[in-house]
Amino acid sequence: MLTADRLAQARAARGFMPDDEGNALHDAARGVAAIGPFLEIGAYCGKSAIYLGTAAEEIGRVLFSLDHHRGSEENQPGWAHHEPDLVDAATGLIDTLPHFRRTIHEAGLEEVVVALVGHSVPIALHWHTPLAVLFVDGGHGVEPARADFTNWVPKVAPGGLLAIHDVFPDPADGGRPPYEEIYLPALRSGAFDEVLACGSLRVLRRTASWPGAERSPR
Ligand code: SAH
Ligand code: MG
Repeated sequence: MLTADRLAQARAARGFMPDDEGNALHDAARGVAAIGPFLEIGAYCGKSAIYLGTAAEEIGRVLFSLDHHRGSEENQPGWAHHEPDLVDAATGLIDTLPHFRRTIHEAGLEEVVVALVGHSVPIALHWHTPLAVLFVDGGHGVEPARADFTNWVPKVAPGGLLAIHDVFPDPADGGRPPYEEIYLPALRSGAFDEVLACGSLRVLRRTASWPGAERSPR
């Protein structure tokens, strides 16, 4: 379990991770059997990184937390999840990196959580380390979700976990791409079994080797 302090910090952090889903993510990650680091796509202001970073700390791993820190489509001005005070006055662009750094500092996780500042795909193309835990919570449009599936999901180690956020099987509940472009293809690949569902969080475990792994992007 997260200590009361850590839990309070996670709750106070800005972002999009309900308490119950954050706790479920933490518990699943700290129980992972596979060797290797954790990586999340979609850091924002560091909320999910507290849950995952705590799990990493507890079992002696590292969390790489990836984001270009410019916000997703829905974080831009005029969209539902825009927070005007996240705009950097000098550039006129969203910049969540200072908020992320403060969150990680205040949680005492700077030695466990490593920020990867950049776009998901170019980082994936140069990433070769099998992942014990991959948490996908980045761009939620069709193209970014498909790109994260293609470029990151094959990097989950056998026995490792693929966690996906904002999975909405019922279109009435929310956008479809995390469900249609990541969750369903992962199950259809035959390489993953579902181990946990909590709210819009799904956690799958990689059982088999990735079909055509030798041809997957590396
Ligand atoms: N996990 C966070 C919420 C993430 S919001 C929490 O717990 O609160 C989604 C994030 O994904 C945004 O910060 C956005 O900047 C980032 N993002 C979207 N598309 C991306 C891409 N292609 N590469 C890197 N980051 C991306
Ligand atoms: Mg999310």
